[in-house]
Amino acid sequence: MRVVVVGAGLAGLAAARELATEHEVLVLDKGRSVGGRLATRRIGAARLDHGAQFFTVRGDAFRAQTDDWLARDVARVWCHGFHGRTDGYPRYVGTEGMNSLAKDLARGLDVRCSALVFTLRRDAGGWSVITDDAHIERADAVVLTCPIPQSWALLMESDVAPPDALLAHEYERTIALLAVLDRPSAVPEPGGVQFDAHDESAAFAFVADHRMRGVSPIPAITCNATVPWSAANWERPTDDLRVEMLARAAAWIGDAQVLEAQVKKWRFATPTAIWPEPCWTAPDVPLVLAGDAFAGPKVEGAFNSGLAAAAAIRSFA
Ligand SMILES: Cc1cc2nc3c(=O)[nH]c(=O)nc-3n(C[C@H](O)[C@H](O)[C@H](O)COP(=O)(O)OP(=O)(O)OC[C@H]3O[C@@H](n4cnc5c(N)ncnc54)[C@H](O)[C@@H]3O)c2cc1C
Repeated sequence: MRVVVVGAGLAGLAAARELATEHEVLVLDKGRSVGGRLATRRIGAARLDHGAQFFTVRGDAFRAQTDDWLARDVARVWCHGFHGRTDGYPRYVGTEGMNSLAKDLARGLDVRCSALVFTLRRDAGGWSVITDDAHIERADAVVLTCPIPQSWALLMESDVAPPDALLAHEYERTIALLAVLDRPSAVPEPGGVQFDAHDESAAFAFVADHRMRGVSPIPAITCNATVPWSAANWERPTDDLRVEMLARAAAWIGDAQVLEAQVKKWRFATPTAIWPEPCWTAPDVPLVLAGDAFAGPKVEGAFNSGLAAAAAIRSFA
């Protein structure tokens, strides 16, 4: 089969790697590089993660993948907890940022970035996957790993209608502040502080120091806003947000001067509910929806959903 996977986040790449052993697989992503919410940005000499900051491992499949990453120095243990408390569970990071994980999974795959999929059409011969430059890719089977509302939008011109309960899924937003500093920040060891993401009175849910995480050669921090703060401030201009978030981050910036600061808005940061199955397969149609809304709103959930999507596609071969 020729399989087109839409989305080169962890779910799409995990699915593509599994399927590529037996099928011809093409991965399309609208982003400039792979990774989706495993996002690492360079600002000058600094390297900053501005999506996921670490990952944990619970299940065997992701354990095997993580052991392989550890053996090849693609990932390493960052810490075992925050605020001086350890719970025995390692928090892992990508060695050169969280994006390293996606880049590693993408190696050897046919992945095209800057390819925005516009719509999907179905005919007797399978699927036409149409990008926004009117390019058409033919496919026998398709895996969609975008956040659910974005996947649903791609199906509007097809005869596939996912269940209403699936389409009702919503996502929380996150606004992130990225700042490069001229000297070490005031973030305590191990270079991260974590708070209640739904606290109405707080601005930040997570603050990370990327030099202390071992990801950036020079001091740089990311401050991910809480869900209520992100929602309340979503429409404000980026320049306003940057000024206010820098002021609110003063305690973590400490004595350092800010060399450069940027703001990133994640419209689909965290699914508010998780679908009871690790992916959704259209009845009698070679189409699977996958992503972190299916197997848990974390790096491991996205990976496991990608594996489940590959297994579902195989049943059509
Ligand atoms: C701010 C933030 C902090 C987080 N922190 C953590 C953490 O500390 N630990 C943890 O485990 N998890 C964390 N997460 C969650 C974790 O990042 C996600 O669960 C996981 O990365 C989702 O992977 P995915 O493949 O399902 O989706 P995504 O990574 O979102 O991948 C979907 C891909 O689809 C592409 N796409 C969408 N529409 C189209 C289209 N029309 N055409 C082509 N491509 C398209 C996108 O560009 C994207 O690359 C965090 C997320 C955010 C946003």
